[in-house]
Amino acid sequence: MTTYGKPLPDPTFDTKPYWEATKKHELRVQKCSACGFLRFPPRPVCPKCQSMQAEWTRLSGKGTVYSYSVIGHAVGKGFQADVPYINVVVEPVELKGQRIPSNLTGCNPEDVKIGMAVEVYFDDVTPEITLPKFRPAGER
Ligand code: ZN
Repeated sequence: MTTYGKPLPDPTFDTKPYWEATKKHELRVQKCSACGFLRFPPRPVCPKCQSMQAEWTRLSGKGTVYSYSVIGHAVGKGFQADVPYINVVVEPVELKGQRIPSNLTGCNPEDVKIGMAVEVYFDDVTPEITLPKFRPAGER
């Protein structure tokens, strides 16, 4: 039994490869085999050319903050110890106009800026699930 007290993703046919990659500490998205378009979130059909053929390609993990929200009041019990924490929407450098929702850590809420450079890291929250999260680029 896990003691992780927050909601977890429930991988589907389309998202399972994404979660298998994060478990290996890799951030991957679908790349259309026909036109090369990178897409996120995972889905069966390319929005550019309607091809159903795709492969999973690894991203650098670097991106910028597109938007964020500082959470000062935890709705779920599992989040109470984290307050205040930062929900962030990251635009990976390879995905223009497509964004990944996540958390930003290693940064004071008052220091977050739209457009700031961030990089992915991986949080093994349970034996089955690893969440991609972000921190300011260059921080360790
Ligand atoms: Zn395509």
